Amino acid sequence: MQTSSKNDIGQRCVHCGEDTSFGSGRFVNRIPADSYCEALDKDGNVIFEEGEYRDGYACAECMMFECDRCDEMIAMDEDVTPYDCGDDESEFTDGAYRVHYDCLTEIEKLHFEEING
Ligand SMILES: [Zn+2]
Ligand SMILES: [Zn+2]
Repeated sequence: MQTSSKNDIGQRCVHCGEDTSFGSGRFVNRIPADSYCEALDKDGNVIFEEGEYRDGYACAECMMFECDRCDEMIAMDEDVTPYDCGDDESEFTDGAYRVHYDCLTEIEKLHFEEING
C-alpha cells in the first residue's frame, strides 16, 4: 500500500526506529503501535521529534519494562503495577511502580491473588 503521508514510517518501530519487517529479527513479537513522544537512539540523536506523530509498530525490546525493585527487565504482560493489586495509589508504598510478581511483598502478592486469582 502506497501512501504519501510523511508520518508513515512503514514497518519501523515507533520507539527506536528499527525495522520490524519480516526477516529483521524484530518481526515476531512486534505489535501495532503509534506514538508522538520524542525518541532518541543509543547515541542520543533524535529519531523522532516530540509531537511528531507516527504510526507503525513497537518491537518487543521497546515493550519491555525495567523492574523498579530489581532492575531486571520485565517481559510484556508480566509486569505488576499497584493497580493490579487493587490499589488506587499510583505507586507502591516504597515508590516502585512496575515490578515482577516475584518482587512483590507477601502482602502485595496476597492482594494480587485476591484480584487476579
Ligand atoms: Zn523498538
Ligand atoms: Zn523485579
